[in-house]
Amino acid sequence: MTGSVSVSALVLRKADWRDYDRMVTLLTAEKGRVDAVVRGCRRPKSELVNAAEPFVCGSFQLYYAKDRYTVTQCRVTDGFYPIREDYDRLTLGAKWLKLLEETGVEDEPAEDLFRMALSALSYLAYSDIELGLLDAMFLMKLCFLNGFAPAADKCAVCGKSARDTVLGFDAAKGGCVCRQCAPNARPLSEGARRILLKAPRTPYKAVEKLVGHPDWPEAGERIREFVQNVIGKR
Ligand SMILES: [Zn+2]
Repeated sequence: MTGSVSVSALVLRKADWRDYDRMVTLLTAEKGRVDAVVRGCRRPKSELVNAAEPFVCGSFQLYYAKDRYTVTQCRVTDGFYPIREDYDRLTLGAKWLKLLEETGVEDEPAEDLFRMALSALSYLAYSDIELGLLDAMFLMKLCFLNGFAPAADKCAVCGKSARDTVLGFDAAKGGCVCRQCAPNARPLSEGARRILLKAPRTPYKAVEKLVGHPDWPEAGERIREFVQNVIGKR
């Protein structure tokens, strides 16, 4: 099939290609992960120069032919510029883009994931909320929207409810687990468990409500462990 399509996209990655071109990986609301060529964007004064920079988002016009997408136009709506001016923010933002690339699925709409990514990047660029908390919220949302959130209201192994037993946490076993199924699981506070259960199901902006919450650092450590475990196995 040949033709043009307009998508809302975030640039996840760029790589130089041939003399004047770049390949980009995009996260799009309409088509999930898309690899595309940006022709001529390394020529001086190319109108597409901004279309090939990580963190840039906007409306992209794509042309599809011969099994390949080409970016033909781009209207940038945000570049999250402050992220690039701060080493810690840049490091965290780059990690997020890599995770979005690794978990992104081609040819499947990803509207919720796309909106969450933009929201998270806005907080990273324009808020003064602690980076560890922004990261914890991003990882919880990423897992949830990709369908592999850790168990948080029942044992991941036997399914026993949190109402009926004390749950610990074991990243390798799928999240919360009961003592019978995982005697050596790490203890988990009730506050952290509730964050792991509820935060992924709220919009990213609910991160503001976790500021100052005593249990988010613990929830953050557990979700980081969990993501490392899941992504490492993919
Ligand atoms: Zn169990």
